[in-house]
Amino acid sequence: MAAAEAPWGWQWGEARALGRAVRLLQRLQEQCGDPRLASSAPSLPDLLPRIAQLLRQVAHARRAAGGDDAEGPGGARDFLIVYLHNLEAKSRQVAALLAPRGGRSANDQLFRESSRLRRQLAKLALIFSYMHAELGALFPKGKYCGHTYQLTKARAHTFWREHCGARCVLPWAEFEWLLCTCHPVESGCTALALRSTINLTCSGHVSIFEFDLFTRLFQPWPTLLKNWQLLAVNHPGYMAFLTYDEVQARLQTYRDKPGSYIFRPSCTRLGQWAIGYVSSDGSILQTIPLNKPLFQALLDGQKEGFYLYPDGKNHNPDLTELYQMEPHPYIHVSEEQLQLYWAMDSTFELCKICAESNKDVKIEPCGHLLCSRCLATWQQSDSQTCPFCRREIKGQEAVSILSQVRPAEARATAEDPKESSDQEDGEEELGQVVSSAPPLPPQLSASPAKGQLKVQQWTPAVLLTGQQAHHPLQDLRLHLSKYSAFCSIAALSKRSSPATPI
Ligand SMILES: [Zn+2]
Ligand SMILES: [Zn+2]
Repeated sequence: MAAAEAPWGWQWGEARALGRAVRLLQRLQEQCGDPRLASSAPSLPDLLPRIAQLLRQVAHARRAAGGDDAEGPGGARDFLIVYLHNLEAKSRQVAALLAPRGGRSANDQLFRESSRLRRQLAKLALIFSYMHAELGALFPKGKYCGHTYQLTKARAHTFWREHCGARCVLPWAEFEWLLCTCHPVESGCTALALRSTINLTCSGHVSIFEFDLFTRLFQPWPTLLKNWQLLAVNHPGYMAFLTYDEVQARLQTYRDKPGSYIFRPSCTRLGQWAIGYVSSDGSILQTIPLNKPLFQALLDGQKEGFYLYPDGKNHNPDLTELYQMEPHPYIHVSEEQLQLYWAMDSTFELCKICAESNKDVKIEPCGHLLCSRCLATWQQSDSQTCPFCRREIKGQEAVSILSQVRPAEARATAEDPKESSDQEDGEEELGQVVSSAPPLPPQLSASPAKGQLKVQQWTPAVLLTGQQAHHPLQDLRLHLSKYSAFCSIAALSKRSSPATPI
């Protein structure tokens, strides 16, 4: 592990290394003075001071903690060794591009569109944007949380924690070996390509943050590497390390061929895809499909006539086999939960926000369930936080809830080996159940005001949220009340009691 090669111990060396990195970034920032560099995202003049600021916060928090928190292998210290080493290497590459051979000003070629130097600089800027996001995710406000970081996709999270424990970073070779236990990787070129896709910061290591992004981009989990193979390796429309501006420039070539398209991982909304395409009137548009796997967005777009010619080529790869492989995961409802809901004269399936539709979507990573209509309304009205617990919504997954059964039947279901959440059995199977019951929504203390949507009151065993003065659910109720038709249907709906077994 990298720690064994550490050139410095925590007490003295790490603080010095952090300080050196900050100074290096400051010098680089001075070199980025040319206004032509302050283009659209990712912008180095914008990123460099933000990374430096985060590093200062890390140094401060590490000093305060005495350097002894989460110091196991692959913990904060090992991560920083890998990170700072990589940061230094990439900073030197940028410096060399900005002032070649000791010259004082940047080479003019750097500002010529589609020049090789410009391409290199754009790629480095993207790497810096990933490094900034990675540091912020593992050290929010400087404090290390890599050991508790939760991956967005539940099964990816289970995989990481079962195989890598509390580590937040490990060398590529070890990671590849571990991944093989679950998703076989061919050696040679394929493994190299996989490494370059996963290891966005090009450090030679894989962090939990990078794996999170990869598993979001190439969801669903059961066919992770198959998805990657079809969507990245074999797909002419896939563009790694391309910026917004570069996509615009590339699609200019195909302006007379509407339906031409390319796609890239978004650098502003990490873990999501940005698809650029030439519309029927020849304009170039870029869009971020929300809440669906890429293959599904591409198939939908193909049906609608938007995504027909990947990178201008006539042959559009057939992705339907991925579609066929994607079942909705089932949500397992425990007997205890069933009884709890029955006691409240309700059913588990019913969306607890509108009390009208059944739950059919799971918010990631917190796991709260609601109906997709309520989620869509909520996302239009609010920031990207869960209406139940306010955690960031990083994704959503369509789910099916196992039909509600009487307690005796529920027990039988839970004991059915086919429905078990056992990782070994479930790993290669499609349609497996979620490994644990979803969290219950928090209790609402306030009664709905007159004219507002009636929200069911319940007394869950677990209270997940803090005591916010203004609960987000109330905000949502208020917002929903504007939709009168929707509201009146929901308000009028009477839930029959007790739940009828289906
Ligand atoms: Zn709903
Ligand atoms: Zn939540």
